[in-house]
Amino acid sequence: MFYRSTRNKDTAIKSAEAIVKGISQEGGLFVPYEFPVISLDEISKLADMDYNERAAFVLSKFLTDFTPEEIEECVNKAYTSEKFGENITPLLKLCSGEYVLELWHGPTCAFKDMALQLLPHLLTVSMKKAGDGKTVFILVATSGDTGKAALEGFKDVDGTSILVFYPESGVSPMQKLQMNTQQGDNVAVCGVKGNFDDAQSGVKSIFTNPEIVNELAEKGMVFSSANSINWGRLVPQVVYYISCYCDLLKSGEIIKGEPINFVVPTGNFGNILAAYYARRMGLPIAKLICASNSNNILTDFINTGRYDRNRPFFTTISPSMDILISSNLERLLFDLTGCDDQKVQDMMKKLSGLGYYEVDEPLHKAICEVFYGGYCDDEGTKRAISRYFKEKGYLCDTHTAVAFDVYEQYKAKTGDKTKSVIVSTASPFKFATSVLNALGTDFPEDGDEFEAVDALSSATGCEAPESLRTLRDKPVRFRNSCSVGKMGDVVLATIR
Ligand SMILES: *Cc1c(COP(=O)(O)O)cnc(C)c1O
Repeated sequence: MFYRSTRNKDTAIKSAEAIVKGISQEGGLFVPYEFPVISLDEISKLADMDYNERAAFVLSKFLTDFTPEEIEECVNKAYTSEKFGENITPLLKLCSGEYVLELWHGPTCAFKDMALQLLPHLLTVSMKKAGDGKTVFILVATSGDTGKAALEGFKDVDGTSILVFYPESGVSPMQKLQMNTQQGDNVAVCGVKGNFDDAQSGVKSIFTNPEIVNELAEKGMVFSSANSINWGRLVPQVVYYISCYCDLLKSGEIIKGEPINFVVPTGNFGNILAAYYARRMGLPIAKLICASNSNNILTDFINTGRYDRNRPFFTTISPSMDILISSNLERLLFDLTGCDDQKVQDMMKKLSGLGYYEVDEPLHKAICEVFYGGYCDDEGTKRAISRYFKEKGYLCDTHTAVAFDVYEQYKAKTGDKTKSVIVSTASPFKFATSVLNALGTDFPEDGDEFEAVDALSSATGCEAPESLRTLRDKPVRFRNSCSVGKMGDVVLATIR
């Protein structure tokens, strides 16, 4: 199977090259030429397999230049019971026809582990196939969650090194400690005196700095990135939608072929796009419900067909969804226009120039056939946390709460009774202060995060994940920070 760019449909590269490159020359994203099919009989067969076997099966349909042994090895290194517990993606039944898929049982307690535990292994195999004998140097700018998940994923993976820059005063104390205590021989972390955008543009200019790139090449290394537009981060996410359907089938909650809805708390549109790809493969999915917070650009887009980022940016209690440019939407536009690379280019050009674009009526109709968009502000988020805990005994984090609220709005508006799975993207203990306050406890917003974790535990009777509980006792390994102008020097020092 070949891959091509959303901005040049004549590209033809294999999956290994797509994973090594991350983004195409003209700035497009890599997509498969066609979607492999998964039949209902195959789904029934997968229902009797474990998560890793299901993952290997699905991945082998996309990564046709990998051998079965390579895929199996990658999967088995990524999804271990030491890292994820016995059940990789637990599925809980909340009430009749309503389920929660928990994707946060990995090492950093957020769903990004599902992709970032596998990506490093896919990347090392891809480097062997398409990397000219070089090893990779991963450079990340993070606003919090991605940095830690990438560090955990790349930690001690052969043939890789990773350096993470974070805005010194732009991440939570918990997130900072998660990164600064990171173990592993191939990892480095550095604070930046600036905000996330400063760190991000610093990283972007290092990627194309000839002096640094040359020195890297002399050491036999190339830069790569671990951000969510890489195909190697997207494809692992298709797996858990199929696996979830298998679990529903196996437990008798649905019958073979019965369509279900997924409700996805959305930021960069990566997670929900993976669900759309599973649907394209033939997984029986009726609606995909796209849930946003007050940064509701996707809600407006789905409802009106106009994507307009000329709007205020809100900092919310679901920070991983505070995004105004959802990069992965480009892949959906490419698919729903019948691979019209020119049209996609025009829209993206308009977005970067004028800050908006509009889709034509047939495209808008095609989007609405599959997607429903809704949003919920911070007050609504808190009410949903409290309501679900008190009425259904389920404790959720702020991002998942957005999905719960939007799902209720959807049901009230449409009367749709299709069985639905709400995708849960983070442990409630990762956002303990906000969750506590939602439950009516007066915990200070700037209080100690570890006290918040303990307080949430005693208020709810739920146990905090071990990796968060034990964090405060871990030795701090990284204390350095630099100005934006010195980021290149930090990279050079790390290489040497
Ligand atoms: C990253 C993230 C999201 C958003 O996922 P996208 O793939 O960017 O849409 C939602 N919830 C949490 C907890 C996240 O970390």
